[in-house]
Parts: sequence; structure tokens; C-alpha cells
Amino acid sequence: NAEGILRRQAARESAARTYARSLPIVPVRARGMTIEGADGRRYLDCLSGAGTLALGHNHPVALEAIRSVLDSGAPLQVLDLATPVKDAFTTALFETLPPQFAESGRIQFCGPAGTDAVEAAVKLVRTATGRSGLLAFSGAYHGMTAAALAATGDLAARAAVGEGDARVTRLPYPYDYRCPFGVGGSRGAELSARWTATLLDDPKGGVQPPAGMILEAVQGEGGVIPAPDAWLRRMREITETRGVPLIVDEVQTGVGRTGAFWAVEHSGIVPDVMVLSKAIGGSLPLAVIVYREELDAWRPGAHAGTFRGNQLAMAAGTATLRFVHENRLAERAATVGARMLTRLRGLAAHHPCIGDVRGRGLMIGVELVDADAARDEYGALPASPQLAGVVQAEALRRGLIVELGGRHGSVVRLLPPLIITDEQTEAVLDRLTDAIAAAER
Ligand code: PMP
Repeated sequence: NAEGILRRQAARESAARTYARSLPIVPVRARGMTIEGADGRRYLDCLSGAGTLALGHNHPVALEAIRSVLDSGAPLQVLDLATPVKDAFTTALFETLPPQFAESGRIQFCGPAGTDAVEAAVKLVRTATGRSGLLAFSGAYHGMTAAALAATGDLAARAAVGEGDARVTRLPYPYDYRCPFGVGGSRGAELSARWTATLLDDPKGGVQPPAGMILEAVQGEGGVIPAPDAWLRRMREITETRGVPLIVDEVQTGVGRTGAFWAVEHSGIVPDVMVLSKAIGGSLPLAVIVYREELDAWRPGAHAGTFRGNQLAMAAGTATLRFVHENRLAERAATVGARMLTRLRGLAAHHPCIGDVRGRGLMIGVELVDADAARDEYGALPASPQLAGVVQAEALRRGLIVELGGRHGSVVRLLPPLIITDEQTEAVLDRLTDAIAAAER
């Protein structure tokens, strides 16, 4: 039974588990946006495998693609050998990318996880430039392995590995509600850009010319913070004019999630390297980098890995990429996301515990604050991770799965699948509204 399963796994599994603590459910079946627990309860899933499930759980086109590989007798594990399944995936992926990549880009299969691809990206720019420094941003999340963790902003996450990597210089990400400079809006973003340029150009007090800059166009784990398009364009200009390769981590933002197929399309910037994972595998593990061919400085064998050739993931990924493209699900994400933001902002007007509502497409964050505390000198209220935890638990009681994130763990994050229906959208918002009202009491 469910209780027994929860108890045994809690006893045997690593203390590092997180989801299982905040979401004590035992999923046994799932379809679309719905997860069914062992106790028969059904939940609307706004976690989506941490943003992996663009098409929700067990979408027929992904299942069919997986079955067709299984039925064909094709090898399931192919290292980095050439196969028709991989050819189809690469072709489908390149069709979605900014044209510069399609014309002369390179792809590298990196392994199962997003963090594998971040490692590869960082190592690639270090190899290509012969330099080692990396510019990364406050609040960033790039993964849990060495280079990816070093670029991640969360001090607590980095604590076990010491200060992290001295080669990483951290810059302030434009975060309107709690801008690192205490200045919100476009002025905060401009100051962040100026800070970056000044640092790079300072011959004495600045940083050594770095190997690259890594950023997310919308920070996900960092609390759902969309960077202004103008800031992204400034970062592209600053890095380009100084010969610093720009790595954009689209692990979470990719495949329609933000209302464009890739989040870089909103600002029109073309990175030197894009890091892709999560949704590209159609719910199975797959991670790649794509990059400008001039950066392809690897020796043969310079970067390897056994699990780069998961044919089931490539097939499910091809089907997912095509389905998102053909059904214009990015546009759908933009429309539904805008509607959700409007309703949540209306809700914020009646609930002082909602400090900020923000997002892009179907990446939405509701930042909970302590409404009884004093505002800081810039007008923000203190974050309330405690209240966010109660909202998450109240939502779960009402059949809604949401994730928390942000620098303080105070942001309720909504990452529904792009196939969410209008009815499900209203149900998510109704349940969240009730959960916030209950938590506030
Ligand atoms: N980059 C970003 C932007 C992410 O959101 C994540 C995971 N949440 C990662 C990298 C790491 O991916 P993985 O957990 O698959 O290693």
C-alpha cells in the first residue's frame, strides 16, 4: 500500500531526496496532466517531471515513437554510432533551432542529464578559447556536477564543495522584485549590463578574459525570473564584442515552454552554445549541446560518455519536437500563460502575501512574502518559504502538484504541460486560489 511504499523508501533512500518529502504521493498511473496515486486520488500535475513533460505524461505520439523503436528491433543503446533514429532526431531538432545553427551548427550528444550537457558546454568553451574563467549569474541553476554546480548560484547547494570554482565570477541577474542592485525594472537590467561590461574592461580590478558566459533566459529554479529581452541583447553584445562565447542554458526553457520554441527567440539573440535537455527527450533522458562550428575544437575522444545513444529518448524526442511544432504549442503556451498571469495578478491584489507574480509562457512563479513584516528600503517584503510550503501542501490536498523554488524557496512554480486544456487551466487556478486562501488563514 501507499503508506508502506512511502515508509520503506524513506528508510532506504538517500537523505538528499527532496520531491518525495514535499510531495508525499505514490504515483502509479499518469496521462496528460493527470497523475493517479496508489490511493486512487488524482492530481493535476504542474511539476511535469521538473519541466520535462512538454506533452504531459505518456502522450500517444511519444509512446508510439518508443513502441516503433522497440518493435523494429533497433539497438536501444548505440553509444555515438550513426543511426536512422539519431538522424531523424538531429534533423527535427535543427529544424527548430535559430537558422545559424541549422546552416553551420554542430551537435554533441552529452548523456542523459542536463548537467552533463552543461559540463560539456563549459569544457567546450574552455577548450576552444584556452581560457578558464566563467561568468555566471546570481540565482542561476545549471546542475549538480562540478562545473555546472560551480556556475549555480545557490550557496547552500555549493556548500559541500567549498566555495565552488574560483574561476567563476558571479554577476547580478536582473530580478525586478529583489534586484541585486535594489533597482527594479529596466534600470536594474541596465545596471547589471553596465556592471558586466565594466568588469570585463577593467585592466586591473576586473576579471581575466573569461572562457565564456552562461545564463538562463528565464531562471527556473532561481524563482521563475524572466530576463528582460533588452538585457539579453546587451549581454549578447557585450560578449560578442569582447570575443567571449555565450552559453544559453535552455534545459528548462526549451521546446515551447516560454511561448517561443526556444526562449532566445523572444530577444532574437543567437548564442554560441545552447544547452538542451529535459523536454527534448520526450520524457526520457537526453541532453545535447549545439554550437557554432568554429568552437568545435575537440580532439576526437576529448569528450565522451557511455549513455549518449539512448534511441528510445531520441525517438520520443523527435515525436515531441514535431508535435510541439506542428500544433503550435509554443503559441498555446504564450496564450494560456498570459491568461494565468492575469488571473494570478488579480489574485495578488487581494492577497498581500503574494509579493510578486511573474513568468513567461507556461513558466510561472508566485512569490510568497511575509505581509506583516516591514518593507525593505526598496519596497520588497521578506520572502516567506514557510508560507510557500503551506501553499504547496494545501494545493496537494486539493489535488494540485506544484513545485517550490527561488533563492529563498518562497516561489510557487507552475510548469504545466503545454497540452493543458482551458478547463484544466481554470482548475489549476481555482485550486491554487483556494490553497493560498487556506494558507493565509
Ligand atoms: N539547467 C537548468 C536551467 C535546469 O533547470 C536544470 C534542472 N532543473 C539543469 C540545468 C540540470 O539538469 P539535470 O537535473 O537534468 O541535471
